[in-house]
Amino acid sequence: MASTAEILARRARLLGPNVSTFYDEPVHLVRGEGVWVWDAEGRKYLDCYNNVPHVGHCHPHVVEAICRQASTLNTHTRYLHEGVLDYVERLTGTFEDDLSTAIMVCTGSEANDIALRMAEAVTGKRGIIATDHTYHGNTTAVSQLSRTNIPATGDGSHVRHVPAPDSYRPLGGEGGEAHAQAFAAAVRAAIDDLEASGHGFAGIILCPAFLNEGFPMLEPGWLEPALAEVRAAGGIFIADEVQPGFGRNGERFWGHQRIGAVPDVVTMGKPMGNGHPVAAVVTRPDIMAAFRKSFRYFNTFGGNPVSAAAASAVLDVIETEGLQANAKMVGAYAKAGLEKLAEKYDWIGDVRGYGLFFGAEMVTDRTTKAPSTAYTARVANEMRRRGVLLNRLGIHYNTLKIRPPMPFSIANADHLLGLLDEVLGELGAPDA
Ligand code: PMP
Repeated sequence: MASTAEILARRARLLGPNVSTFYDEPVHLVRGEGVWVWDAEGRKYLDCYNNVPHVGHCHPHVVEAICRQASTLNTHTRYLHEGVLDYVERLTGTFEDDLSTAIMVCTGSEANDIALRMAEAVTGKRGIIATDHTYHGNTTAVSQLSRTNIPATGDGSHVRHVPAPDSYRPLGGEGGEAHAQAFAAAVRAAIDDLEASGHGFAGIILCPAFLNEGFPMLEPGWLEPALAEVRAAGGIFIADEVQPGFGRNGERFWGHQRIGAVPDVVTMGKPMGNGHPVAAVVTRPDIMAAFRKSFRYFNTFGGNPVSAAAASAVLDVIETEGLQANAKMVGAYAKAGLEKLAEKYDWIGDVRGYGLFFGAEMVTDRTTKAPSTAYTARVANEMRRRGVLLNRLGIHYNTLKIRPPMPFSIANADHLLGLLDEVLGELGAPDA
């Protein structure tokens, strides 16, 4: 069997340098089932990170649906096929009434690329607002939305960044309504700046749970003042649901529904096909009509018969296995467990999350809230050594990111919490 060093050298030779991997000792996975994965040496890991195998690694219902359709017909998307229509009907049934049309694509990046064009088609303008710690994908257009979280390419002169919401260190120093108003004021200033620059204002793109930004705890209605500014200026709200969608927050099927914000355009991907590359943009018929009038768009693979079958099977499993309710129940249990650990270890500064996206922010001192970024990386590496895969994110990269496949159980949560307790105890208090 090839060693890790040999595989890394082969990767660099064949895929180019700097292709990122997780952990000081990268994991070489060969098999998965449910919430578990196995490495090449037969070692088993609890997957607490992977939101792509949403309904569980290699779920038999999804595998069977893919195999059945792949052995019947797969083709590009210029023929009539009812599979995609049945799926879009089902998918749009999970949204507010007006969000009833979709474009099927293969990645979240493509979906966001289309969403930006929709904003342009509707408003005739290109100026766009995003947070300063977001990631929305990798096309030339979409990567211009990123700033700290993978630096942007392109000139990006039509992009304005507003500070990512942070419930632990709120803008202006105060949480709740004051924080919401401070965010709205930043959005207003960005709109004015775009209008003054000549680009004009087309819209705002946000993950409604701000997951890449560190998943701040924001109450329902929190986004409303900012969205009122967007609407008053004639812009549209694009909700990037690539991460929070498909029941993960436990309370509602979509992230925007949990905070009570109605988007004009919704993009989704990652968990949608349980690993099969399928993604989509959902919008109102008027926006779809404006987009189709301004742009000709064709996607060879988007919504092909196999993709539609995979995505449909994912919805089946979420429903039949009650995975949204499971996310709510197990997520609450795991978060309460993290809160218990925070009573024991005072370098856990803040515990937060919704459903099966939760974590804890590590600090050197709870009073100053100074982030302990290097320590958080050590925690992730130690957990990996003990057979639990998780990672870190957030504005300071000091927040443990725990986002397991949706069938994650109470026993799995206990396994995670027990080992985290062990690691935090062994590592002791952080000095950086
Ligand atoms: N939007 C968000 C919020 C994401 O986190 C990602 C991927 N991490 C994307 C879009 C891009 O999706 P993809 O990698 O499928 O292009």
